[in-house]
Amino acid sequence: MIIGVDIDNTITHTTEMIMHYAKIYGQEKGLNTTPDLRYYYLEDALGWETKDADDFFDQYLGHVYHDMQPKEQAVEILAELKKQHELILITSRNSKFPQVEEVTRNWLARNKIAYDRLILNATSNMHFFSKLAVCREHQVDIMIEDHYELVSEISPILPVIMFEYPYNNHLQSDGIIPVRHWSEVKEWIDSYQSLQINSVG
Ligand SMILES: [Mg+2]
Repeated sequence: MIIGVDIDNTITHTTEMIMHYAKIYGQEKGLNTTPDLRYYYLEDALGWETKDADDFFDQYLGHVYHDMQPKEQAVEILAELKKQHELILITSRNSKFPQVEEVTRNWLARNKIAYDRLILNATSNMHFFSKLAVCREHQVDIMIEDHYELVSEISPILPVIMFEYPYNNHLQSDGIIPVRHWSEVKEWIDSYQSLQINSVG
């Protein structure tokens, strides 16, 4: 099968690293540093003005992407999955941000993340793009994702394994498989694959 895999908050603990640096930046500037994690976007989670959030990301995004950690067992399970499946990493990280592709590829190599292809957002929207279009173009069979809008966009068409967060756990449908750990991802894909094989056979 062809499996689409998001990076931030799916393979990695990105929010934790953003909040780590947001605390440093916010304390310097006298801004709120206690997040409401029901909100996905930094402006909403911390109640910051857009200009503060933009300035923060200009200063700290490189550090965030460099320092963040993979989730428990993500490395091992992606390596296992790659033996049987094609893995396409699909990220809303925008290739127009200076060096974002290089920082991303270096991080993936340094952390020994197994994958076949990396697709970045190349649209004029710096933080978001349609992953359903990418899934269709590359004939993706299953997507692994956390962003609530993308889960909503893709799950009517393809099964979406969704890493649960306070900002997405209101979503429920037959096409959404909520998980909290990479071991659950592997279990679900294994059983889905055997169902596919049995239904063909
Ligand atoms: Mg994500």
